[in-house]
Amino acid sequence: MNSLLSARNANPLLLILLACTASLAFAEAPATISSTNILARTQTLASDNFEGRAPGSPGEEKTVAYLVREFKKLGLQPGNPDGTYLQDVTLVGITSHPTLSFNIGGTSLPMRPINDFVGPTSRVSPRLAVKDSDVVFVGYGVVAHEFGWDDFKGVDVRGKTVVMLVNDPPVTDPKTGQLDPKIFGGKAMTYYGRWTYKYEIAAAHGAVACLIVHETGPAAYPFAVVIGSRSRENFEIRTPDGNRDHVAMEGWLTLDAATRLFAACGKDFSALKKAALGSDFRPIALGAKASFTIDSELRNVDSKNVVARFPGSDPKLRDEHVVYTAHWDHLGRNTQLEGDQIYNGAADNAAGVAVLLELAQRFHTLPAAEQPRRSILFLSVTAEEKGLLGSRFYAQHPLYPLTKTLANINIDGANPFGPTTDMATIGFGASTLDDVGTAVAVSQGRTMAPETHPEAGYYYRSDHFEFAKVGVPAYYAKSGTHFIGKPPDFGEKLIEDYIANDYHKVTDEVRPNWTFEGAAQDTEFLLQVGLRVANGDAWPEWRAGNEFKARRDTMMDAAKH
Ligand SMILES: [Zn+2]
Repeated sequence: MNSLLSARNANPLLLILLACTASLAFAEAPATISSTNILARTQTLASDNFEGRAPGSPGEEKTVAYLVREFKKLGLQPGNPDGTYLQDVTLVGITSHPTLSFNIGGTSLPMRPINDFVGPTSRVSPRLAVKDSDVVFVGYGVVAHEFGWDDFKGVDVRGKTVVMLVNDPPVTDPKTGQLDPKIFGGKAMTYYGRWTYKYEIAAAHGAVACLIVHETGPAAYPFAVVIGSRSRENFEIRTPDGNRDHVAMEGWLTLDAATRLFAACGKDFSALKKAALGSDFRPIALGAKASFTIDSELRNVDSKNVVARFPGSDPKLRDEHVVYTAHWDHLGRNTQLEGDQIYNGAADNAAGVAVLLELAQRFHTLPAAEQPRRSILFLSVTAEEKGLLGSRFYAQHPLYPLTKTLANINIDGANPFGPTTDMATIGFGASTLDDVGTAVAVSQGRTMAPETHPEAGYYYRSDHFEFAKVGVPAYYAKSGTHFIGKPPDFGEKLIEDYIANDYHKVTDEVRPNWTFEGAAQDTEFLLQVGLRVANGDAWPEWRAGNEFKARRDTMMDAAKH
């Protein structure tokens, strides 16, 4: 999951001014970073030959073999202490075939798969069937004690089907009428807004099914994306209990289907959606009963994380690591499509992997005096598109202690166009890594701005999030939107165009006008950030009040004893 670019909060007038001066002062990417290399590797990985790089497919074999070959060619060490460049990631593929219908006072309201709903399961079971479970509307389904918010209010939803709104509650400040930044991050999406959170909290309350109502604005992507990622084979990490503690159906309803359901129950969806905006909201029984079945095809898949290592120069610090990540996987081939069936994933994330390889090459050519004191890990993970599974597996089965892992720096997407005068940090304000990033951007003659679309929750949508979840400070930055020599809105238009036309579509392919000069500029940025952390005396830390800080503190305290 990704988007090409995102940043506009900086003052445009200032930026144009900077653009004029920056083109004078701005440092081109050192010769050793080659935009040509980045383009070439992106073209290779995004070619039809790699078949859209789906985990557990021939495309995986080609991709993994290519990455191992490139890391070897670059002279990097095997990243797995077992002497290999591979980490087995044990997955199970689940292809769900759901049916769903509601019964309202004896009248049946059947739901059409794809047109009205998607209803996959993450339970590893060939057949699930539930009859007549009560349907309850639980608003946003959020339990956030820090905001005095509990949408469940102790109401028993065990064995019931809960219907939820997407994103987190857009609470406004009555004085300003604006989104209140003190509650749910204001414009920024918090983890409470993510679909994964919705299924987790529904399971925690014992519900048997959770149906999220899809709305393009609040979700930040069209229903087509939901269909694309949830109505095909999905993967889970193989666990002994087969995810029995998950809700049986992890579904979405279209806005139209939800409105019809509420109306059939004599309820007004938009009125109840308004009611859900208050912290005094209480769950509402719709008076409907849901019945569903899910027949699933199951297959075990051993996918691979690919990992290489650049050992640190300082014997005292060499067992400490900075981990760069970039997922190699994408959506593969969809044989049901007419014409082009391959999701080439050029921007997402062939380009990011190409940047990871160029980074590895750059580290390898650093003069001795500039080499990192701590070790650098280059981790290209699998199954990001399937729920951040490769990075979750690594976070749960780290090859090097997390207490000796200073930071994760994630690469998802890259700037295929020209250089910019600005950078953007996703989740700005989370950790002291922001300061490192800002200092490096300034050293490049650029500015650092918070992301433009905090409402999209990008901090929760790529691999750094799995490192953050286990407490490791995790950084995710990308090119800004102010391109040298381009009109101020050039970058923003690129984002909108990409999200609307190419994101997770077969059209995400390398374009003739892609030069990757911007990506080369950003590769130098990522290198300098990693070097400063690898050579620094201070360890990166989460800021006070950050949702991941407690986990890090607990982990590091435990390591001391
Ligand atoms: Zn991605």
